[in-house]
Amino acid sequence: MSINLQAAIKDLLAKSAGNPRKPIADTGKYNDVKEKAIRDLATSVGYYAESGPLFDPEGRYLCSDCCLREEPQSCTHVSGKISMQDGSCMIWVIGDPIHLPVGQKLTQIESNYAERPTAKGFGCARCGWYDEAKKADKEGRPGWCSWWGMHVVPLACCFAESGKDLLVAPGEKSS
Ligand code: SF4
Ligand code: SF4
Repeated sequence: MSINLQAAIKDLLAKSAGNPRKPIADTGKYNDVKEKAIRDLATSVGYYAESGPLFDPEGRYLCSDCCLREEPQSCTHVSGKISMQDGSCMIWVIGDPIHLPVGQKLTQIESNYAERPTAKGFGCARCGWYDEAKKADKEGRPGWCSWWGMHVVPLACCFAESGKDLLVAPGEKSS
């Protein structure tokens, strides 16, 4: 990841934390060109994916399926205690553990690590910003994301996941 990309993500996270976001309503009237630009942005800085290593075909995005996990309760890239059953973060990548430590781990805040102890999973279908779209888009995406203002597939996910049970950076609560 380039420094500029990291800076852009930090900026997005800071803005969303400092200014509670107003949902972007699904009006039922869509602009495909604008939505494509937004989806490209969500893909490049928001970790949104509909295929490839950042996509979970089961739509759960849990640490237990991430190749950076170190079972039973740690991670090669994120600090602190990690929950395989409830946790995830924005650098989730599918696969068997690769056991490749980095020099310095990201903190739970930097990686946007969070846990969902009730939902037991992440992904658009479990996200507070998700709803069924009034109409699917031309490619058949049935969901509407009111954070980005675009159609999404229910099994996708991004760094702005939300939910009533979401615990952000539980390992750093006391710091
Ligand atoms: S904390 Fe992030 S990088 Fe580590 S195992 Fe969980 S999803 Fe993967
Ligand atoms: S519905 Fe939630 S997880 Fe899906 S793209 Fe929108 S904010 Fe991200």
